[in-house]
Amino acid sequence: MQGSLPPLHFRPILKEKPWGGRNMAHYLGKALPGVDRFGESWEIAHCGADSSVVSGGSLDGTTLPELLRQHRDEIFGDHDPGGDEFPLLVKYLDANQWLSVQVHPDDAHSPTGVGKTEAWVVLRAAPESTILAGLKRGVGRKELEAAIASGNVLDCLNSVPVSAGDCISIPAGTIHAIGPGVVIAEIQQQSDCTYRFSDWGRGRELHIEQALDCMDFERGPVFPVHPLFKTTGEGVQEQLVSNEYFRLDRTTHASSFQLEESAAFSILMVVHGRGRMFQSDGIRELRVGSTVLVPAHVEPALCVPEKELTTLLIRPPVGALRSNFPQRRLSRPQVAAFSRGE
Ligand SMILES: [Zn+2]
Repeated sequence: MQGSLPPLHFRPILKEKPWGGRNMAHYLGKALPGVDRFGESWEIAHCGADSSVVSGGSLDGTTLPELLRQHRDEIFGDHDPGGDEFPLLVKYLDANQWLSVQVHPDDAHSPTGVGKTEAWVVLRAAPESTILAGLKRGVGRKELEAAIASGNVLDCLNSVPVSAGDCISIPAGTIHAIGPGVVIAEIQQQSDCTYRFSDWGRGRELHIEQALDCMDFERGPVFPVHPLFKTTGEGVQEQLVSNEYFRLDRTTHASSFQLEESAAFSILMVVHGRGRMFQSDGIRELRVGSTVLVPAHVEPALCVPEKELTTLLIRPPVGALRSNFPQRRLSRPQVAAFSRGE
């Protein structure tokens, strides 16, 4: 008989970065030690030496690899992705300075066979925050190589102002850099493979040849997505990204909602507001920065928003979601308003 698991919360894996800061402490509730600059909080990870560990509840202290060995069917349900690793990595980022100008390989170009397609949701952006995403129109390999040789790579890149609520989809092979002043949630394949074109003079290693080889020169400029949305009894649901690795939706919850058994696992990330999750092994606070792995065979749990609660819902790419959505798109001000829970 199939068992079931409670919703799983993990200890964050905090990463010092030269471009990081201390925003994850007061904005995301992360306990940052010392005075160092922290850039990333890996929320659910199973990548190299980094494995998430369950925090609290009946499975406290269990690592993600142990969970997959002991409870694989409960977690994956009908859609086991195969392989030893959990298929997705989700994290929060605090960019205080420019991140490197970089590109990630696709599966075919990655030394591990797992590429890095990613998506970002902006939680917070200082005025005039900017990201670089994709090449300007008309820039091909020849133009990019010439710009690198003359030290002008930035001239080739598409610059986009961003504000809270924006979602940017970055398929593998897309050149990009996150600018200062933003806190984002990042959803990606379980990979840490990055090739740098520029590190803004900070001295970390560059990988120009590998970076050029895994570029998708057909991609062109990339802009924030225009979500498809619908209103349900649960609130406003927006479909942000759907690709061959994950589906990313955002829900602004109007009322309490129940976590129930499903054909596949899902991940909830809280991006606005707060609430509580009543589960069989305890009551958990939900606040901006909380992340929950919901096994396919989950013990029922009740989520109760406290005034406002907006969550990202990340799922493996199974079933046809797109057809459920009316083809109606939100303007960017509407997106920002939804993300604030308005
Ligand atoms: Zn990246």
